[in-house]
Amino acid sequence: MNIIMFGPPAAGKGTQAKKLVAERGLIQLSTGDMLRAAKKSGSELGKKVAGIMDRGELVSDEIVIALIEEQLDMNPNAKGFIFDGFPRTVAQAEALDALMTKHNSKVDSVVRLCVDDEALVKRITKRFEEEGRKDDNPESFKVRLNAYNTQTAPLLPYYSAQGKLTEVDGMADIAAVSASIAQVLDKNGNGAEISASTPKKGFFARLFGG
Ligand code: ADP
Repeated sequence: MNIIMFGPPAAGKGTQAKKLVAERGLIQLSTGDMLRAAKKSGSELGKKVAGIMDRGELVSDEIVIALIEEQLDMNPNAKGFIFDGFPRTVAQAEALDALMTKHNSKVDSVVRLCVDDEALVKRITKRFEEEGRKDDNPESFKVRLNAYNTQTAPLLPYYSAQGKLTEVDGMADIAAVSASIAQVLDKNGNGAEISASTPKKGFFARLFGG
């Protein structure tokens, strides 16, 4: 089973992906984690992406697609993958479909974690104070949220047209979100409304006129 964890920055994608790794033996492929590792290692790739990431902008499709391709090639016998933070653009989604086809596989399910902008800002403010991740500063976070709304949210109709998209309430506590995701993956149905619409302009967009 191959799953995409979908949602805005700080929606809890990584947290839920890690739980699925533990519970279902899937492999988590987080492009954010891969890029941060590259940055930390000081590699050429790391140097190239550092500024882009710190500002909250998206790294080029070419780079992240290559990272994913490498991981898919390296894990031919995986039970399945959880894509976390990928794809983030339509070009990435199309590339992923092509890569999965090449591996005689497919994306089975796209789980969208719905969290309103006001809650995202609160979470990220707290994380910035606690962990000091550079791109969690208010200015970069604004850029990240804008990238999500303009470049990533257009993937919602792409996946809903394929009948793969399910929405989960990401405002609930971690255990409750996990339970909702488990229901979706086990096909018990959770009555989620699946629409091809892009998110409404939320608190953050109104605040910054984005
Ligand atoms: P979050 O989901 O909290 O924003 P991530 O860890 O997924 O954080 O990503 C951190 C940063 O890494 C992004 O802001 C972006 O610069 C870069 N990045 C990660 N994944 C991608 C991707 N699929 N396409 C382009 N850039 C990416």
